[in-house]
Amino acid sequence: SVIIWNMKSYQTNNPKETQALAEQLAKLVYPGLVVTLQGDLGAGKTTFTQGLAKALGITSRVKSPTFNILNTYEEGRIPLYHFDAYRLENMGAADQGFEDYLGTDGVTLIEWPQYMADLLPNDRLEMTFTRMAGADSDREIVVRGLGQAAQIEEDLHG
Ligand code: ADP
Ligand code: MG
Repeated sequence: SVIIWNMKSYQTNNPKETQALAEQLAKLVYPGLVVTLQGDLGAGKTTFTQGLAKALGITSRVKSPTFNILNTYEEGRIPLYHFDAYRLENMGAADQGFEDYLGTDGVTLIEWPQYMADLLPNDRLEMTFTRMAGADSDREIVVRGLGQAAQIEEDLHG
């Protein structure tokens, strides 16, 4: 089948603006959506996730699940599954039951998705966070929707 893809780019100048973009995305997420968050340490992946969580009505403190790899939040409009796959770099992601949290009843955000590459569905929203030259708090966020997620990319842009 034909893979439909697009690419749109946003610039934010502080954490609040990154969270405002997350708030826009929160209006569009649906059960089963997988969102990959790529970017270096400090790029803003967790900051974005915190904005999305808040907009879904999650009141618990969201932090990077670096040690447990997955945190789940059930108290929002839909479940939020938050992965930080960094520690899987040397272990691999197979046989740990992660599939139950991908493409099921919640929205799944994945930091360091390159370490769970084999588990990623073809339909997904890819977001790439990059520090920009210039001010310390400038970020470029590139959004690319693959397959069914191409529509959410369109709708996000408005
Ligand atoms: P990551 O999860 O990608 O490692 P974090 O979200 O944990 O990154 O950290 C990003 C850091 O950068 C935070 O301290 C945040 O306050 C800061 N920051 C500065 N400007 C921005 C911005 N425009 N968007 C997101 N975070 C920003
Ligand atoms: Mg993080």
